[in-house]
Amino acid sequence: MIRCRNLLQHLSICYEYPPRYEKTQNYIVNGSDKQFNILFINDGINAHIMYISDVEALTGFRYCNICHRQAYRIKDPNLQVSMRNHMKKCQKNNGKIVKKVILEKFAKPFVPHILSNKTYKYLLANNLTHLFKPTQYYITYDIETFEKKVNEKFGDSSQVIATLVPYAIASTVKSANGIHSFYYDIRTDDFLDKWLEQLFEEAKLVKKDNKYIDETIPQYFEVPVIGFNSAKFDTSLVFKNLKSKDWTISKYLG
Ligand SMILES: [Zn+2]
Repeated sequence: MIRCRNLLQHLSICYEYPPRYEKTQNYIVNGSDKQFNILFINDGINAHIMYISDVEALTGFRYCNICHRQAYRIKDPNLQVSMRNHMKKCQKNNGKIVKKVILEKFAKPFVPHILSNKTYKYLLANNLTHLFKPTQYYITYDIETFEKKVNEKFGDSSQVIATLVPYAIASTVKSANGIHSFYYDIRTDDFLDKWLEQLFEEAKLVKKDNKYIDETIPQYFEVPVIGFNSAKFDTSLVFKNLKSKDWTISKYLG
């Protein structure tokens, strides 16, 4: 939509459903105070300019009569109140949009890494920061794979030369009792499933060891399971094994 006020144009775009319009450009040309709105349509070859008699019906927005910039959704139940408040300010500022920084009444530290962690947040709020502790116990894993040549063609231009097949997986657990490892390979049937089964068992121990003994401290019970260079290949290899009746995936990372 182009809203012209002495050719003050608001060029707007609508791609979505329900249609949404955005002001992308406006032009000011000297002359009268007269306002009119036009719709600019360009199909790549022809450009059309259409006069709009009812802007609100087309856009679903009501514009501020003073600045002609602030728009309110007509269906908004607070339309009247919001518009009145805006127009009061707009009148004071002569139609210019003035941005102000409003500070909080009380200064708060900007520490998202603490406030987004319920344990740290609790300890900070209760003056117990000396109880901060790192996550000490975790599990690592590494998958070994071999390349299986397939030479499969997909259309004319793509060809898969080889796929990776996992043949062994090893994990190390660091818990309060020390370090121990476990290992499965292709000689065992469904070895990835068996590894996952044991992983969940070992995780219970790690969870217990990472806990604060004081149960009143709110805690996360996540167990870090860390792969080596795992983001690209390994995760996709175990991914299909993660589907199980014994557990559910509650959150995907990345
Ligand atoms: Zn305004």
